[in-house]
Amino acid sequence: MQPQPTALFLQPDGKLAIEWSDGRRRQYDAGELRRNCPCATCLHERESAVRTVEPPENLPPAAITQARPVGNYAYNIHFGDGHSTGIFPLELLLELGEE
Ligand SMILES: [Zn+2]
Repeated sequence: MQPQPTALFLQPDGKLAIEWSDGRRRQYDAGELRRNCPCATCLHERESAVRTVEPPENLPPAAITQARPVGNYAYNIHFGDGHSTGIFPLELLLELGEE
């Protein structure tokens, strides 16, 4: 069974930390999450960026202002730049971040 988040909190350094039911703890940088936002708008922006000038890495980092569960399969993460449509599936969160 896929690990589920057991605890979720914003660290003083601005990173999001998630503790998983398999005992792992991962930290997520706001900029990394923002760059990997899976919503349609961001996917489109990233595809366009490949064809034009700016690589996605140049997107400005944005603080995480809110993260709330969507059912038991994803988190909706709100960023300081006002972007809030990203639904991050747990599988994606398990791939991103660092231990
Ligand atoms: Zn997005």
